[in-house]
Amino acid sequence: MNSEATLPDVKTYDVLVVGMGPAGATAAYELSRAGMAVLGLDKQAHPRYKVCGGGLSVRIDKILESDFKAVIEHTIYGVQFTYRGEEPCLIESPQPIAYMVMRDRFDHHLVEKARRAGTEVHEDERATDFHELQDWVEVITDKGRYRAKVLIGADGANSIVAQRLFPDRHLRRMPTLESEIGIGQTPVYPGEGKVLIDLGATESGYAWIFPKKERLSIGVAEFRGRTASPKGIFERFVRDEKGLATLTVPQPCGHPLPLYSSRGGALGMAAPTALVRHRALLVGDAGHLVDPLFGEGIYYAVLSGQMAAASVLGSFRDLKRSLLDYELAVSREIYPEFRIASRLARIVYTVPRLCHRLMHRYQEVIGLYYDVLQGRETYQTFFLKAKGLVKASLRELLREALPFTPKVKD
Ligand SMILES: Cc1cc2nc3c(=O)[nH]c(=O)nc-3n(C[C@H](O)[C@H](O)[C@H](O)COP(=O)(O)OP(=O)(O)OC[C@H]3O[C@@H](n4cnc5c(N)ncnc54)[C@H](O)[C@@H]3O)c2cc1C
Repeated sequence: MNSEATLPDVKTYDVLVVGMGPAGATAAYELSRAGMAVLGLDKQAHPRYKVCGGGLSVRIDKILESDFKAVIEHTIYGVQFTYRGEEPCLIESPQPIAYMVMRDRFDHHLVEKARRAGTEVHEDERATDFHELQDWVEVITDKGRYRAKVLIGADGANSIVAQRLFPDRHLRRMPTLESEIGIGQTPVYPGEGKVLIDLGATESGYAWIFPKKERLSIGVAEFRGRTASPKGIFERFVRDEKGLATLTVPQPCGHPLPLYSSRGGALGMAAPTALVRHRALLVGDAGHLVDPLFGEGIYYAVLSGQMAAASVLGSFRDLKRSLLDYELAVSREIYPEFRIASRLARIVYTVPRLCHRLMHRYQEVIGLYYDVLQGRETYQTFFLKAKGLVKASLRELLREALPFTPKVKD
């Protein structure tokens, strides 16, 4: 650790947040409204473009104040599942399952909320280095130098906070490509209140079309293994998808997706999933808090931003509490969910065609998954109930296929 001389030209804060996406802006908002002195840095100026499908499961209603609804573009009630552009299967819900947002507007809304709550926001300012001192973390940027009692790394999938202050973290990030087409006033595709998910478009991932008011977000993502040519897969999806036939799709942008993974650290090192070290915490994409089944990250960015803020506040107010409370909260509330999502991803992306066909036949499993998106079930309760449903369906399939009925093991 470096020496601790006080420097008159260095401004100090209780908390410094690097990155003002959903994770950072949420943490900054919660801390500022509790009276902390917070500096939020972002290398870009909001509203800024972010490569993202902008699909937000409606369970966000349970954790985010409702004023964000002003920036919702569409409310989604159903998913059109396809396999390589064929075998369409539309599964709808009477209740909303997701909101579609444009990330420039959504993130700007959260940043302005933090600013109004008292966060000092510096935009167009990039954090470049960090020094751990006894009582402070010092942050060097391309415009200045600051000190804070606590540093929150919310700087996304390419987090420099994680690289510099958590050198033991070596977690995988998956390749994605996304493009956005302006559609003006023409009707959205695949239809009002619907999104499209194609399970066969990639080797072990999916392709999507998420409609916004005047745009379609189109993308492909791998969730397991590596693909030889994401660009080739994207082009094939766009070529084969009938709904895009009359549209010119601009060149896609690439962005890594830092999916949750419990593996990846070097032997003998600290846990590869550690989220707290010294005076620094990682939230959102910087902490790989992305659902490994479908890549949902915005909800977990907001949730982890709130959890981090709660543990920082706790540690300021009560010396017996520690920042590690944040890691414990994530281990208790998020990781068990992600572990189940990983198991599901292994099944879905190993036998996507079979899963797609089962979807047609047993739509109630997807209905149960919608309950997770709606916050009525967790992945853990979903898994138990879905297992029961799938076993019942297997029994039925076997009964149809065979003249006698072998036992399906529990
Ligand atoms: C193609 C694609 C599609 C996706 N679709 C969805 C979806 O439909 N639904 C969903 O829930 N999730 C989706 N995700 C995931 C989602 O985008 C992320 O999980 C989410 O943005 C995480 O929020 P965050 O605040 O952690 O990070 P980010 O939103 O990435 O914000 C990080 C911020 O940090 C700033 N920053 C970075 N480095 C520095 C630095 N050195 N100094 C200062 N500032 C810095 C950046 O400018 C940025 O504003 C998708 C991801 C990809 C790649």
